[in-house]
Formats: sequence, C-alpha cells, structure tokens
Amino acid sequence: MKKYRADLHLHTVLSPCADLEMSPDQLVRLAKKRGIDIIAITDHNSTRQCDMVRKVAEGSGLIVINGCEVNSREEVHALCLFEDDYTRNEFQKFLDHYLPKLPNQPEYSGYQILVDENNGITEEIPFFLGNGLDVGLEEIEKFTHQLNGLFIPAHIDRPINSIFSQLGFLPHELHVDALQISRQSDEAHIRRLYDIHDDITLIKASDAHYPEDIGSACSVFFLNEPTFQEIRWALNQKNGRSVKIEA
Ligand SMILES: [Zn+2]
Ligand SMILES: [Zn+2]
Repeated sequence: MKKYRADLHLHTVLSPCADLEMSPDQLVRLAKKRGIDIIAITDHNSTRQCDMVRKVAEGSGLIVINGCEVNSREEVHALCLFEDDYTRNEFQKFLDHYLPKLPNQPEYSGYQILVDENNGITEEIPFFLGNGLDVGLEEIEKFTHQLNGLFIPAHIDRPINSIFSQLGFLPHELHVDALQISRQSDEAHIRRLYDIHDDITLIKASDAHYPEDIGSACSVFFLNEPTFQEIRWALNQKNGRSVKIEA
C-alpha cells in the first residue's frame, strides 16, 4: 500500500465566504507545494468550479475530486464527492433544482465567481449559494449514493451547521461514508463526546477558505492506487484500504 495525503474539504472563489485569492491556479500550486496528493473541491451548494481546478491540475500529479459542500434543509453541511463528470453534472442539476433562487448581494455576502486558469472571471453566480437547499439531508444522501458518490457530514464538532448541532444525533438510516472533524479537534475526544463507534471513519480536512489554510488538516490514505473506488474502500474500512487522521 502507498500513502496519499488528502485534504477533502476546500473552498474556491466560487464560495461567497472564501477569499478571492482561492483561484484554481492558486489551489493547485499551494496543494502541490505543501505535499498534498489528493484534494476535493467542495464549494457551498455548487460543483461548478471543479472542472477548471481539474484542468489546471492536469499533468501536475495532483488528484482533484469533484465535490461540493451541501447545506441541507436542516442547515446541516455535508461533503458530497463524485467520481466523474457525468455524476458531477447530474448532482449539479439536483443542486440547481433545490437551491432557493434568492439573489446574491456581493457587497454583503461576498462574490460568487468562476475563474479560468489565468484568474480571469468567466461567470458570476446570481443566486446566493449559502442558503439551505429545499431538500432534506436524507434525500441528499440517497441521491449522492445513487450516483455512486461519497457522503461525509462536515465539521461535525462545530456548534452550527453540523449534524449534531442541527439534529442532535446521527440518524441510524443515514448512510455516511465517513464523518469530518475540524482541524483543532481530537479524534478520541470527539468519539467519546458523540459516542461514535470505531466502524465509522473520522477524517480531518482543512475547510480552507484562505490560501494559508490549504492543507492545514489532512488525512492519510493507504491505497494501492489513488482511485475513487479505493478511496471509497478506505473510508468504509474495506478490502485492506484504510485512512487515518494525520498526526
Ligand atoms: Zn461548512
Ligand atoms: Zn466548508
């Protein structure tokens, strides 16, 4: 098995709350410089900056996973990751359908822009991406898995927008591939606090909104090859693949 350092929760300029310096070019350059092998692009309620990050990363050796950080009707944040362009696109249609069409106010909420490899603005998203979708967490999980994606509730230890802050518990019928904890949290403490059994994997990720935070919390995957399927196996503790939080 080979070791791969992964940061699976990163925002780009598309997220209203992220720094305008978080361009595809900058993300790829800093991830490489900081020795990261795998990143996931997880903007709020949108997958639309993924293609450009993947394009910029071509030939660099950095693996870029398509994804987003959904905000459910219950205001729970969860990472949804997808293997290919087809499934990413199908999930984007789902997001477009359930995002409330409230205009973004850039001067108040921040800019929501798509940029190209030269940091040129190609599009501005008119509807605010930070709102809760008009669909529940369970349905989001089911659709993600129908598309063979990965479903990972985000920053479960945070006092807002986490599964425990919003629901108070982890619903038995919700199929999670892993749970993400925040960079400053201690795994053993979080397991005790929320009574999380060892058969559910915990990962750490940076949730970077600023360049300096990229790679500030990583998880280490032990895989034969860095494929989406092996990452799925590692998160689900299958076929000898595994993942642990970087010390
Ligand atoms: Zn979040
Ligand atoms: Zn986030």
